[in-house]
Amino acid sequence: MRIGIPAETRPGETRVAATPETVKKLAAKHQVVVQSGAGLQASIPDDAYAAAGAQIGSAQEAYGCAIVLKVRAPDAGERALMASGTVLIGMLNPFDADNIAAMATAGLSAFALEAVPRITRAQSMDVLSSQANIAGYKAVLVAANTYQRFMPMLMTAAGTVKAARVLIMGVGVAGLQAIATAKRLGAVIEASDVRPPVKEQVESLGAKFLDVPFLTDEEKEIAKGSGGYARAMPADWMRRQAELVHERAKLADIIITTALIPGRAAPVLISEETVKAMKPGSVIVDLAVEQGGNCPLSELGKTVLKHGVYIVGEPNLATLVAADASALYARNVLDFLKLIIDKDDQLLIDREDEIIKASLVCADSAILRK
Ligand code: NAD
Repeated sequence: MRIGIPAETRPGETRVAATPETVKKLAAKHQVVVQSGAGLQASIPDDAYAAAGAQIGSAQEAYGCAIVLKVRAPDAGERALMASGTVLIGMLNPFDADNIAAMATAGLSAFALEAVPRITRAQSMDVLSSQANIAGYKAVLVAANTYQRFMPMLMTAAGTVKAARVLIMGVGVAGLQAIATAKRLGAVIEASDVRPPVKEQVESLGAKFLDVPFLTDEEKEIAKGSGGYARAMPADWMRRQAELVHERAKLADIIITTALIPGRAAPVLISEETVKAMKPGSVIVDLAVEQGGNCPLSELGKTVLKHGVYIVGEPNLATLVAADASALYARNVLDFLKLIIDKDDQLLIDREDEIIKASLVCADSAILRK
Protein backbone atom coordinates (compact mmCIF):
# COMPACT_ATOMS: atom_id res chain seq x y z
CA MET A 1 0.00 0.00 0.00
CA ARG A 2 1.06 3.60 -0.50
CA ILE A 3 1.16 5.78 2.61
CA GLY A 4 1.62 9.53 2.21
CA ILE A 5 2.91 12.11 4.68
CA PRO A 6 2.22 15.65 3.45
CA ALA A 7 3.71 18.81 4.92
CA GLU A 8 1.39 20.66 7.30
CA THR A 9 0.31 24.05 5.98
CA ARG A 10 -1.73 25.54 8.80
CA PRO A 11 0.03 28.66 10.18
CA GLY A 12 2.01 27.82 13.31
CA GLU A 13 1.81 24.05 12.77
CA THR A 14 5.34 22.72 13.07
CA ARG A 15 4.64 19.04 13.62
CA VAL A 16 4.70 16.19 11.14
CA ALA A 17 2.72 12.93 11.25
CA ALA A 18 5.63 10.54 10.73
CA THR A 19 9.28 10.47 11.74
CA PRO A 20 12.18 8.43 10.36
CA GLU A 21 11.55 5.97 13.22
CA THR A 22 7.94 5.30 12.16
CA VAL A 23 8.70 5.57 8.42
CA LYS A 24 11.30 2.82 8.80
CA LYS A 25 8.70 0.49 10.29
CA LEU A 26 6.11 1.36 7.63
CA ALA A 27 8.57 1.18 4.72
CA ALA A 28 9.39 -2.44 5.60
CA LYS A 29 5.97 -3.38 4.19
CA HIS A 30 4.59 -0.38 2.32
CA GLN A 31 5.61 2.38 -0.05
CA VAL A 32 5.95 5.57 1.95
CA VAL A 33 5.89 8.97 0.26
CA VAL A 34 6.98 11.99 2.33
CA GLN A 35 6.39 15.44 0.89
CA SER A 36 9.67 17.26 0.50
CA GLY A 37 10.19 19.54 3.51
CA ALA A 38 7.43 17.94 5.60
CA GLY A 39 9.73 17.45 8.60
CA LEU A 40 11.82 20.58 8.37
CA GLN A 41 10.07 22.50 11.15
CA ALA A 42 10.50 19.49 13.41
CA SER A 43 14.21 19.34 12.53
CA ILE A 44 13.82 16.30 10.27
CA PRO A 45 15.47 16.78 6.87
CA ASP A 46 14.31 14.92 3.76
CA ASP A 47 17.53 12.89 3.85
CA ALA A 48 16.57 11.33 7.16
CA TYR A 49 13.23 10.16 5.73
CA ALA A 50 14.94 8.88 2.58
CA ALA A 51 17.45 6.95 4.69
CA ALA A 52 14.52 5.38 6.55
CA GLY A 53 13.12 4.10 3.26
CA ALA A 54 10.72 6.84 2.16
CA GLN A 55 10.38 8.26 -1.29
CA ILE A 56 10.52 12.07 -1.19
CA GLY A 57 7.82 13.59 -3.37
CA SER A 58 5.48 16.46 -4.05
CA ALA A 59 2.28 17.35 -2.18
CA GLN A 60 0.30 15.76 -5.03
CA GLU A 61 2.23 12.51 -4.63
CA ALA A 62 1.82 12.43 -0.85
CA TYR A 63 -1.92 13.20 -1.00
CA GLY A 64 -2.29 10.74 -3.87
CA CYS A 65 -1.54 7.76 -1.59
CA ALA A 66 -4.22 5.31 -0.40
CA ILE A 67 -3.56 6.29 3.24
CA VAL A 68 -2.63 9.85 4.20
CA LEU A 69 -1.18 10.67 7.62
CA LYS A 70 -1.74 14.24 8.80
CA VAL A 71 -1.41 16.28 11.97
CA ARG A 72 -4.24 18.77 11.33
CA ALA A 73 -7.43 18.61 9.27
CA PRO A 74 -6.88 19.34 5.57
CA ASP A 75 -8.05 22.64 4.08
CA ALA A 76 -10.07 22.81 0.86
CA GLY A 77 -6.97 22.77 -1.36
CA GLU A 78 -5.58 19.72 0.44
CA ARG A 79 -8.93 17.90 0.31
CA ALA A 80 -8.98 18.44 -3.44
CA LEU A 81 -5.67 16.56 -3.76
CA MET A 82 -7.16 13.38 -2.26
CA ALA A 83 -9.12 10.89 -4.35
CA SER A 84 -12.47 9.64 -3.12
CA GLY A 85 -11.86 6.60 -0.91
CA THR A 86 -8.58 7.91 0.54
CA VAL A 87 -8.07 6.94 4.17
CA LEU A 88 -7.10 10.03 6.16
CA ILE A 89 -5.77 9.86 9.71
CA GLY A 90 -5.08 12.91 11.85
CA MET A 91 -6.29 15.28 14.55
CA LEU A 92 -9.30 16.16 12.42
CA ASN A 93 -11.47 18.09 14.87
CA PRO A 94 -14.35 15.68 15.50
CA PHE A 95 -16.50 18.48 16.95
CA ASP A 96 -16.23 20.63 13.82
CA ALA A 97 -19.33 19.58 11.87
CA ASP A 98 -18.52 21.68 8.78
CA ASN A 99 -15.10 20.14 8.47
CA ILE A 100 -16.49 16.61 8.79
CA ALA A 101 -19.17 17.36 6.21
CA ALA A 102 -16.51 18.64 3.80
CA MET A 103 -14.41 15.50 4.28
CA ALA A 104 -17.49 13.33 3.73
CA THR A 105 -18.31 15.21 0.51
CA ALA A 106 -14.74 14.59 -0.65
CA GLY A 107 -15.41 10.86 -0.14
CA LEU A 108 -12.68 10.44 2.46
CA SER A 109 -12.62 7.71 5.09
CA ALA A 110 -11.44 9.99 7.86
CA PHE A 111 -10.27 9.00 11.34
CA ALA A 112 -10.18 11.74 13.97
CA LEU A 113 -7.65 10.57 16.51
CA GLU A 114 -8.97 12.92 19.22
CA ALA A 115 -12.09 10.75 19.30
CA VAL A 116 -10.25 7.52 20.13
CA PRO A 117 -11.85 6.29 23.37
CA ARG A 118 -9.77 6.34 26.53
CA ILE A 119 -9.62 2.61 27.04
CA THR A 120 -6.53 0.63 27.97
CA ARG A 121 -6.15 -0.90 24.48
CA ALA A 122 -6.08 2.57 22.93
CA GLN A 123 -3.57 4.17 25.30
CA SER A 124 -0.73 4.02 22.78
CA MET A 125 -2.90 5.91 20.25
CA ASP A 126 -3.95 8.66 22.66
CA VAL A 127 -2.90 11.83 20.85
CA LEU A 128 -4.69 14.09 23.33
CA SER A 129 -2.49 12.75 26.12
CA SER A 130 0.77 12.74 24.17
CA GLN A 131 0.29 16.34 23.05
CA ALA A 132 -1.24 17.66 26.30
CA ASN A 133 1.73 16.29 28.21
CA ILE A 134 4.04 18.41 26.07
CA ALA A 135 1.78 21.46 26.27
CA GLY A 136 1.73 21.24 30.07
CA TYR A 137 5.52 21.14 30.17
CA LYS A 138 5.93 24.02 27.73
CA ALA A 139 3.29 26.13 29.51
CA VAL A 140 5.53 26.29 32.57
CA LEU A 141 8.57 27.25 30.51
CA VAL A 142 6.61 29.96 28.68
CA ALA A 143 5.36 31.25 32.04
CA ALA A 144 8.90 31.22 33.47
CA ASN A 145 10.11 33.18 30.46
CA THR A 146 7.42 35.83 30.82
CA TYR A 147 7.68 36.07 34.61
CA GLN A 148 10.15 38.70 35.73
CA ARG A 149 11.28 36.88 38.83
CA PHE A 150 12.92 33.59 39.77
CA MET A 151 10.95 30.37 40.08
CA PRO A 152 13.04 28.72 42.86
CA MET A 153 13.82 30.12 46.27
CA LEU A 154 17.36 31.44 46.28
CA MET A 155 19.56 32.41 49.20
CA THR A 156 22.30 34.67 47.94
CA ALA A 157 24.79 37.11 49.44
CA ALA A 158 22.48 39.85 48.18
CA GLY A 159 19.55 38.42 50.09
CA THR A 160 16.85 35.82 49.74
CA VAL A 161 14.51 35.46 46.77
CA LYS A 162 11.16 33.81 47.43
CA ALA A 163 9.98 30.82 45.41
CA ALA A 164 7.26 31.57 42.87
CA ARG A 165 3.73 30.46 43.78
CA VAL A 166 2.10 28.61 40.91
CA LEU A 167 -1.61 27.81 40.68
CA ILE A 168 -2.66 25.11 38.21
CA MET A 169 -6.34 25.03 37.23
CA GLY A 170 -7.41 21.73 35.68
CA VAL A 171 -5.23 18.75 36.49
CA GLY A 172 -5.60 16.34 33.59
CA VAL A 173 -2.64 15.25 31.54
CA ALA A 174 -1.41 18.81 30.85
CA GLY A 175 -1.98 19.97 34.42
CA LEU A 176 -0.12 17.03 35.95
CA GLN A 177 2.89 17.66 33.70
CA ALA A 178 2.70 21.38 34.52
CA ILE A 179 2.84 20.55 38.24
CA ALA A 180 5.81 18.22 37.72
CA THR A 181 7.67 20.79 35.61
CA ALA A 182 7.00 23.71 37.95
CA LYS A 183 8.12 21.51 40.84
CA ARG A 184 11.42 20.78 39.09
CA LEU A 185 11.93 24.54 38.76
CA GLY A 186 11.41 24.96 42.49
CA ALA A 187 7.97 26.62 42.59
CA VAL A 188 5.39 26.23 45.35
CA ILE A 189 2.28 24.76 43.76
CA GLU A 190 -1.47 24.64 44.34
CA ALA A 191 -3.94 22.97 41.98
CA SER A 192 -7.66 22.61 41.43
CA ASP A 193 -9.86 20.19 39.48
CA VAL A 194 -13.44 18.97 39.59
CA ARG A 195 -12.66 15.27 39.48
CA PRO A 196 -12.11 13.88 43.00
CA PRO A 197 -9.37 11.29 42.17
CA VAL A 198 -7.12 14.15 41.10
CA LYS A 199 -6.51 15.20 44.73
CA GLU A 200 -4.30 12.20 45.39
CA GLN A 201 -2.35 12.70 42.13
CA VAL A 202 -1.75 16.36 42.97
CA GLU A 203 -0.54 15.55 46.45
CA SER A 204 1.72 12.76 45.21
CA LEU A 205 3.52 15.36 43.07
CA GLY A 206 4.12 17.51 46.15
CA ALA A 207 1.48 20.15 45.39
CA LYS A 208 -1.49 21.30 47.47
CA PHE A 209 -5.01 20.49 46.30
CA LEU A 210 -7.62 23.24 46.53
CA ASP A 211 -10.67 21.47 47.84
CA VAL A 212 -14.07 22.83 46.80
CA PRO A 213 -16.45 20.60 48.77
CA PHE A 214 -19.45 18.99 47.06
CA LEU A 215 -22.62 20.04 48.86
CA THR A 216 -25.19 17.94 46.95
CA ASP A 217 -25.38 14.44 45.50
CA GLU A 218 -25.90 16.01 42.07
CA GLU A 219 -22.57 17.87 42.37
CA LYS A 220 -20.82 14.69 43.48
CA GLU A 221 -22.27 12.75 40.57
CA ILE A 222 -21.38 15.33 37.89
CA ALA A 223 -17.85 15.69 39.30
CA LYS A 224 -17.19 12.02 38.52
CA GLY A 225 -17.23 13.03 34.84
CA SER A 226 -17.80 10.57 32.06
CA GLY A 227 -15.27 8.47 30.15
CA GLY A 228 -12.43 10.03 32.17
CA TYR A 229 -13.45 13.55 31.11
CA ALA A 230 -14.97 16.33 33.18
CA ARG A 231 -18.58 17.45 32.79
CA ALA A 232 -19.78 21.03 33.24
CA MET A 233 -20.31 21.59 36.98
CA PRO A 234 -23.48 23.23 38.38
CA ALA A 235 -23.37 27.03 38.69
CA ASP A 236 -23.36 26.96 42.49
CA TRP A 237 -20.22 24.79 42.66
CA MET A 238 -18.53 26.98 40.04
CA ARG A 239 -19.33 30.07 42.15
CA ARG A 240 -17.76 28.51 45.24
CA GLN A 241 -14.74 27.43 43.20
CA ALA A 242 -14.41 30.99 41.81
CA GLU A 243 -14.44 32.44 45.33
CA LEU A 244 -11.68 30.12 46.48
CA VAL A 245 -9.66 30.65 43.28
CA HIS A 246 -10.02 34.42 43.67
CA GLU A 247 -8.39 34.25 47.12
CA ARG A 248 -5.59 31.92 45.98
CA ALA A 249 -4.98 33.92 42.77
CA LYS A 250 -4.22 37.02 44.87
CA LEU A 251 -1.21 35.14 46.28
CA ALA A 252 -0.15 33.43 43.04
CA ASP A 253 2.68 34.60 40.78
CA ILE A 254 1.81 32.27 37.91
CA ILE A 255 -1.49 30.64 36.98
CA ILE A 256 -1.65 27.91 34.36
CA THR A 257 -5.14 26.95 33.25
CA THR A 258 -5.86 23.74 31.35
CA ALA A 259 -9.53 23.06 32.13
CA LEU A 260 -11.58 21.66 29.27
CA ILE A 261 -15.00 20.08 28.84
CA PRO A 262 -15.06 17.97 25.64
CA GLY A 263 -17.24 19.44 22.90
CA ARG A 264 -18.04 22.61 24.87
CA ALA A 265 -16.55 26.02 25.51
CA ALA A 266 -13.89 25.92 28.22
CA PRO A 267 -15.19 26.86 31.69
CA VAL A 268 -14.37 30.38 32.88
CA LEU A 269 -12.19 29.97 35.97
CA ILE A 270 -10.26 33.25 36.23
CA SER A 271 -12.65 36.18 35.96
CA GLU A 272 -11.62 39.76 35.16
CA GLU A 273 -12.24 40.62 38.84
CA THR A 274 -9.74 37.94 39.83
CA VAL A 275 -7.17 39.21 37.31
CA LYS A 276 -7.59 42.71 38.81
CA ALA A 277 -6.86 41.29 42.26
CA MET A 278 -3.63 39.59 41.16
CA LYS A 279 -0.15 41.01 41.83
CA PRO A 280 1.43 43.22 39.15
CA GLY A 281 3.78 41.19 36.99
CA SER A 282 1.93 37.92 37.57
CA VAL A 283 1.50 35.61 34.60
CA ILE A 284 -1.46 33.59 33.37
CA VAL A 285 -0.94 30.94 30.68
CA ASP A 286 -4.33 29.92 29.29
CA LEU A 287 -3.98 26.54 27.58
CA ALA A 288 -7.73 26.48 26.91
CA VAL A 289 -7.56 29.62 24.76
CA GLU A 290 -8.59 27.79 21.57
CA GLN A 291 -11.77 26.60 23.29
CA GLY A 292 -12.66 30.13 24.38
CA GLY A 293 -10.24 30.32 27.30
CA ASN A 294 -10.40 29.74 31.05
CA CYS A 295 -9.82 33.48 31.42
CA PRO A 296 -12.08 35.84 29.45
CA LEU A 297 -9.19 38.30 29.00
CA SER A 298 -6.91 35.91 27.12
CA GLU A 299 -6.51 36.56 23.41
CA LEU A 300 -5.80 33.82 20.91
CA GLY A 301 -2.21 33.86 19.69
CA LYS A 302 -1.16 36.84 21.81
CA THR A 303 0.46 37.74 25.10
CA VAL A 304 -1.42 40.71 26.52
CA LEU A 305 -0.88 42.84 29.61
CA LYS A 306 -4.19 43.42 31.40
CA HIS A 307 -4.53 45.04 34.84
CA GLY A 308 -0.77 44.54 35.27
CA VAL A 309 -0.98 40.78 34.58
CA TYR A 310 0.62 39.09 31.56
CA ILE A 311 -1.89 36.76 29.93
CA VAL A 312 -0.42 34.29 27.46
CA GLY A 313 -2.91 33.01 24.89
CA GLU A 314 -0.60 30.99 22.67
CA PRO A 315 -2.59 28.08 21.26
CA ASN A 316 -1.16 24.65 20.76
CA LEU A 317 2.02 24.91 22.80
CA ALA A 318 3.02 21.41 21.71
CA THR A 319 4.03 22.94 18.36
CA LEU A 320 6.84 24.74 20.21
CA VAL A 321 8.37 21.35 21.03
CA ALA A 322 8.00 20.21 17.44
CA ALA A 323 10.55 17.40 17.37
CA ASP A 324 9.33 15.49 20.42
CA ALA A 325 5.69 16.37 19.77
CA SER A 326 6.07 14.85 16.29
CA ALA A 327 7.94 11.81 17.64
CA LEU A 328 5.16 10.97 20.11
CA TYR A 329 2.36 11.82 17.67
CA ALA A 330 3.94 9.68 14.94
CA ARG A 331 4.07 6.70 17.33
CA ASN A 332 0.38 7.24 18.19
CA VAL A 333 -0.43 7.23 14.46
CA LEU A 334 1.66 4.12 13.81
CA ASP A 335 -0.19 2.25 16.55
CA PHE A 336 -3.51 3.38 15.13
CA LEU A 337 -2.51 2.16 11.66
CA LYS A 338 -2.01 -1.34 13.06
CA LEU A 339 -5.75 -1.37 13.75
CA ILE A 340 -6.73 -0.91 10.11
CA ILE A 341 -4.03 -2.90 8.34
CA ASP A 342 -4.42 -6.68 8.48
CA LYS A 343 -1.73 -9.36 8.70
CA ASP A 344 -1.48 -9.47 4.89
CA ASP A 345 -0.68 -5.74 4.94
CA GLN A 346 -4.04 -4.84 3.38
CA LEU A 347 -6.52 -2.23 4.52
CA LEU A 348 -9.20 -3.75 6.73
CA ILE A 349 -11.58 -1.40 8.52
CA ASP A 350 -13.59 -3.34 11.08
CA ARG A 351 -16.54 -1.05 11.72
CA GLU A 352 -17.48 -3.10 14.80
CA ASP A 353 -14.21 -2.30 16.55
CA GLU A 354 -14.84 0.12 19.43
CA ILE A 355 -11.88 2.35 18.58
CA ILE A 356 -12.75 2.50 14.88
CA LYS A 357 -16.41 3.15 15.60
CA ALA A 358 -15.54 6.13 17.79
CA SER A 359 -12.92 7.69 15.51
CA LEU A 360 -14.23 7.09 11.96
CA VAL A 361 -15.99 10.41 11.40
CA CYS A 362 -16.96 9.85 7.75
CA ALA A 363 -16.77 7.15 5.09
CA ASP A 364 -18.48 6.34 1.78
CA SER A 365 -19.57 10.00 1.54
CA ALA A 366 -21.59 9.65 4.76
CA ILE A 367 -21.08 11.51 8.03
CA LEU A 368 -20.72 8.95 10.81
CA ARG A 369 -20.25 11.33 13.71
CA LYS A 370 -21.61 14.80 14.40
P1 NAD B 1 -9.05 17.58 29.52
O1 NAD B 1 -7.94 18.11 28.69
O2 NAD B 1 -10.37 17.31 28.85
O3 NAD B 1 -9.34 18.60 30.75
C1 NAD B 1 -8.27 19.04 31.57
C2 NAD B 1 -8.71 19.02 33.00
O4 NAD B 1 -9.63 20.08 33.26
C3 NAD B 1 -9.42 17.74 33.46
O5 NAD B 1 -8.69 17.15 34.51
C4 NAD B 1 -10.78 18.24 33.91
O6 NAD B 1 -11.29 17.48 34.98
C5 NAD B 1 -10.46 19.66 34.30
N1 NAD B 1 -11.61 20.55 34.49
C6 NAD B 1 -12.74 20.65 33.76
N2 NAD B 1 -13.55 21.59 34.30
C7 NAD B 1 -12.92 22.11 35.37
C8 NAD B 1 -13.23 23.11 36.33
N3 NAD B 1 -14.37 23.77 36.33
N4 NAD B 1 -12.31 23.37 37.29
C9 NAD B 1 -11.15 22.71 37.34
N5 NAD B 1 -10.80 21.76 36.47
C10 NAD B 1 -11.68 21.46 35.50
O7 NAD B 1 -8.62 16.27 30.28
P2 NAD B 1 -7.40 15.28 29.94
O8 NAD B 1 -6.17 15.79 30.52
O9 NAD B 1 -7.42 14.99 28.47
O10 NAD B 1 -7.86 13.94 30.67
C11 NAD B 1 -8.49 13.90 31.87
C12 NAD B 1 -8.20 12.59 32.56
O11 NAD B 1 -8.53 11.47 31.74
C13 NAD B 1 -6.73 12.35 32.86
O12 NAD B 1 -6.27 13.01 33.96
C14 NAD B 1 -6.73 10.86 33.10
O13 NAD B 1 -7.07 10.56 34.41
C15 NAD B 1 -7.78 10.37 32.18
N6 NAD B 1 -7.16 9.66 31.06
C16 NAD B 1 -7.38 8.32 30.95
C17 NAD B 1 -6.79 7.62 29.92
C18 NAD B 1 -6.99 6.15 29.78
O14 NAD B 1 -7.59 5.55 30.64
N7 NAD B 1 -6.54 5.55 28.71
C19 NAD B 1 -6.00 8.26 28.98
C20 NAD B 1 -5.80 9.63 29.12
C21 NAD B 1 -6.39 10.32 30.16
